[in-house]
Amino acid sequence: MTARILNGTSVAQDIRGETAAAVKHMAAAGVHPGLAVVLVGHNPASEVYVRGKVKACHDVGLYSETHRPPETATTAELIHLVNDLNRRDDIDGILVQLPLPGQVDAKKVLMAVDPAKDVDGFHPVNVGLLATQRPGLVPCTPAGVMEILRRSELPVAGREAVVVGRSDIVGKPAAMLLLNANATVTVCHSKTHDLAGVCRRADLLVAAIGRAAMITRDFVKPGATVIDVGMNHVTDPGEFQRLFAGNTKREETFRTKGSTLVGDVHPEVAEVAGALTPVPGGVGPLTIAMLMYNTVKAAQMRRGDRVPQLTR
Ligand code: NAP
Repeated sequence: MTARILNGTSVAQDIRGETAAAVKHMAAAGVHPGLAVVLVGHNPASEVYVRGKVKACHDVGLYSETHRPPETATTAELIHLVNDLNRRDDIDGILVQLPLPGQVDAKKVLMAVDPAKDVDGFHPVNVGLLATQRPGLVPCTPAGVMEILRRSELPVAGREAVVVGRSDIVGKPAAMLLLNANATVTVCHSKTHDLAGVCRRADLLVAAIGRAAMITRDFVKPGATVIDVGMNHVTDPGEFQRLFAGNTKREETFRTKGSTLVGDVHPEVAEVAGALTPVPGGVGPLTIAMLMYNTVKAAQMRRGDRVPQLTR
């Protein structure tokens, strides 16, 4: 069997298009949703992510501004900045780019974000709303996972779903969303016994681990849907050869960049799975699209308007 490769880029484009239409509609009513991004210091990866988010805001017509406190910023200074943003009516979404420098208590800073503006969905109030199936802001990456499943018409209800990874950002909210969508959910982590055996039970396998190509064919039930959230940079030529020997497009990228982006799922899984998200071009583009969607949703919820529904 060769897996159907799910096109995250195209699904993300659809979501961005729908979000842009909602922004236009709101602008006609005099409302201009805005996102404030807080980027502390000069982490190169964070700079790239934030540039992508700011560009996406521009593309869908959202107002955005970036605040750049220095690497030496304290917890109190960041909370002060977040409180200022909480008070501003023209700011609907606040995103504090992680990781924060070591001296900062990241949990305290995230707790300071007004839950109504918490477009990352990390605040315990939003976590609780998700757990109790009430309207709130849902973390972008797991929300993107649900969108690609829904728009690819891959069933969730009644399915055996296994999520590998239990982070607050991806694994736990993904498991909660799948449970809310009536899957039977198992969550695995680094202490799980017989991980491959548990994963092989899955009709729907979500890998959010952060270990390049760890999920090999032995972990996958033939025909299963496999969602690869992982984003790992492979720089070792030996590892690259083991994973991608003969893949001319990848070889070209590796030669020019000295690295390639690899998910948590081994390329050989495409021979076993029924459907598979690629890396790159799978879940990655959806994360930013859902951030745009969450900003519009936050703007509408805060104003008591109807929450925009993504096209079904
Ligand atoms: P994380 O906070 O490091 O969590 C990793 C999880 O995987 C933990 O629960 C850990 O278990 C589990 N794990 C690690 N090694 C394992 C092993 N050998 N066997 C079983 N479980 C294992 O990572 P994260 O933030 O959730 O991110 C996961 C991956 O998704 C990363 O590659 C990240 O770059 C990627 N990501 C992608 C996007 C996107 O937009 N596509 C967004 C966010 C994250 P313990 O809890 O027991 O330690």
